[in-house]
Order: sequence, then structure tokens, then C-alpha cells
Amino acid sequence: MTPSPFLAGLRGRCPQCGKGEMFQSYLKLSERCRACGADFRAADAGDGPAVFVILVVGAIVAPLLFILQALHLPQWFAIGATIAATIGLCLALLPPFKGVLFALQWKHKAREATREDLQ
Ligand SMILES: [Zn+2]
Repeated sequence: MTPSPFLAGLRGRCPQCGKGEMFQSYLKLSERCRACGADFRAADAGDGPAVFVILVVGAIVAPLLFILQALHLPQWFAIGATIAATIGLCLALLPPFKGVLFALQWKHKAREATREDLQ
């Protein structure tokens, strides 16, 4: 049974079998699933995960900076905390977002359009 692309992506598991590891390292996809042999080279999430992470993290850290300034905390603390939150959230969210987008591409067999697709 094919696992949910959202669960497989969030867990970093193969979108085909749900057992093998999706990532070879932090953000580098494995070439193949070690459990079922699925070829991961067919799909590529590209810049999609970064775009979604920017949207989500921006919606969190922009209000955070305003709140910290409204509390009359020292400027260096407000800016430092916001930068730290930005970096931490981006690093934490990139792998699950990339995993989900890759798994969705896998499920829907998304690929670059070819000349044959237009005919
Ligand atoms: Zn697999």
C-alpha cells in the first residue's frame, strides 16, 4: 500500500513503500530507496520547499519582531532573537517541506513537460 505523501514526506520516508529513507543527508535525496529500490532521480522538488518555508517563517518572525519591540526589550535582543528564530525555523522546516513536496511529486508522477505532452 502506498503511504500518504504527507506522512511519508514529514517522516522522510520513501513515498513508494514508506520504509526506506528518503534523504541521504540533510537535504540531499537518496538516488534509490534501500527498501524497495524506487528511483528517486525521477522527481525533483527544486526551489519549491524554500518558497514555502520563506512564506511560513516570514509569517512567524515578522510578528515576532514587532512583539519583541512592543515589549521594549533591548534592540540587540529583539533583532538577535528574530535572526536566531529565522535561521532555526528555516533549518528545521526545510527537510519536512522538501519531503512532502517530493512525495507529492512522486504520487502525482509530476515531471517536466515534453514536446509530446503538448500534442
Ligand atoms: Zn521504498
